[in-house]
Parts: sequence; structure tokens; C-alpha cells
Amino acid sequence: MGGTGFRRWLLGGAVGVLLAAALSSMALAASPEGMRLYVFTSHYLGPFPKAALQNGAPNTTFTIPVAFFVIKHPKGNIMFDTGVNDIIIKDPNYWGPLTHIYNPDRSPNLAVVAQLQKIGMTPGDINYVVLGHMHLDHAGNVGLFPKATVVFQTDEMQAAFWAPPGAAANYIATDFNMLRSGIGNPLPNAQKVIQLNGDLDLFGDGSIYIHRSVGHTPGSEVMVVRLPRTGTVVLTSDACYLKENLDKDILPSIGLVYSPSGTLEGYQWIKRVRDTENGDVIFAHDPETFKAHKHAPEYYD
Ligand SMILES: [Zn+2]
Repeated sequence: MGGTGFRRWLLGGAVGVLLAAALSSMALAASPEGMRLYVFTSHYLGPFPKAALQNGAPNTTFTIPVAFFVIKHPKGNIMFDTGVNDIIIKDPNYWGPLTHIYNPDRSPNLAVVAQLQKIGMTPGDINYVVLGHMHLDHAGNVGLFPKATVVFQTDEMQAAFWAPPGAAANYIATDFNMLRSGIGNPLPNAQKVIQLNGDLDLFGDGSIYIHRSVGHTPGSEVMVVRLPRTGTVVLTSDACYLKENLDKDILPSIGLVYSPSGTLEGYQWIKRVRDTENGDVIFAHDPETFKAHKHAPEYYD
């Protein structure tokens, strides 16, 4: 390589490095001031066998949180997952035979409306509801948000109403029947929906990134939240149940996995975002890591 060629190579390398530095900081730089992430739990589930969520786990039972999240953003307030339908407070048998498998806590103070009050919000203040998937502990309260735009994968909606063989157990149609009015309905008061067949950068600034992650269910999705001070946080819904599952690539029991290979690919994606952006991961159902996080009305910004 001659002198000029070497200089060109050096310059190209330097520009490349600068560009990479600019791109990696861009995500954070673009995250607007005023963003806040609030962590909540809906009705706890359990006790039930840990081995359901972690293949080969010791023969113990545990009680798990059911996390849902609110993100304040200057362009709109977002809720990620909606917990267990609060109808169970008054109707303990709403889940039929599943009631005695999951044993949901029925405390009235865990209802979504009561919890949103802690941060001065009502359901009417939520502009977008993003569904990590539509199982009974994630889409339970989507009916509380008729004015919001509901974001989901088309495959998940199809599975929720007409699941593939072996995958029907954890969908309760009355939780989300009302969404049918919005799909393809041009009337102004119909529920607004965004049906995805892939990823979506919700506001175009990288701060709210929805990633399709088929594994737990046919249309699962995770959400990356990039906050101005805290940095990157991945919200898993059920793409991964426990931190130990993620770190050691352990699957749940087969009854809770639509696609084992897709689930493991999902783990790799989550780990790549976590590790390249020095980020955090908040699991919906991991009792220990859930406890270690701040809960509403405290927040991450
Ligand atoms: Zn699930």
C-alpha cells in the first residue's frame, strides 16, 4: 500500500469510527426530554411450578408479578401490556378452569385504573397500547382503552381468535373481542389499531422500538425504550420469562413455547441490544429482577 493509499485507508477508518460513534449516540441524543418509564404489576399469579417457566427447574413453586408499563413521551403516552382483566376482582371464575392453575391475586388496589391514579393518569390519557402478546395476563385490560391506538402483530390477532393447534389455551376472547370493531373499520369512533408484520419505530426517533419476536406465541413482540438519562431498556413481555433463562438460553416448558427456535433467536436479539447499548432488561414475570426495579410512582427517565 503506497502513502496515499494508506492515508486514504486511515481516513476512511477514522471517518468510519466517527460515523459509528455518531450513530450509537444518536439513539440517545434523539430520545426527547420528558420521557419517563413507569413499572407496574397487575394481579400476581401463583403459586405454581417454577418448571413451567424454566425447563428443568427444581421442583418448587413460586408467585410471579405480571408487569405492565407506561411510557410518557412528548408525542403520546404508551402502555406496554395491560395485565390480568380486572373483572377477576368481582368474578373469580372469569378464567374458568385456568383460575386454579394460575391462582391470580385479586386485590382491588392492583386494578389498572387504581394504579394509573398513582401517576395522575386515567385510561383516557393513554394514546397507544402496545401488546407484547395477547395471553390472559397481558391483553386482559385492553378493553379499558377505546380511545387509544392498539398496536399488535397480525399473526397474534389471528392466533388469539383462532390459535394454531396446541396454542389456544391462554387466550380469553372476551378480553379483546372489542378490537374487532377497529380492524378495517373506517368509522371515526372505531378503535384505532396498527397491525404489524414486523418491527416499528413508533415515533421515528428510535426511542420506542417495537420488535417482532415470534417464539412464545405466533405474534409476540418486545419493546425497546431508549430514555434520555437511563439509556436503553428492553421490555420482554413473555419473549423471555426469567433472567436466568436469558443468560443460560433455557426455554420454558413446551406448553408455553409456540416456536422453540424462534424463542432462542429472540433471546439472542434481546442480549444483542442489551450488550451493545449497555442496556437493562425488565422481564414481565421474574420475581427477583422485578423487585430490584423502581416501581410507580417512581420512574426511570
Ligand atoms: Zn404469555
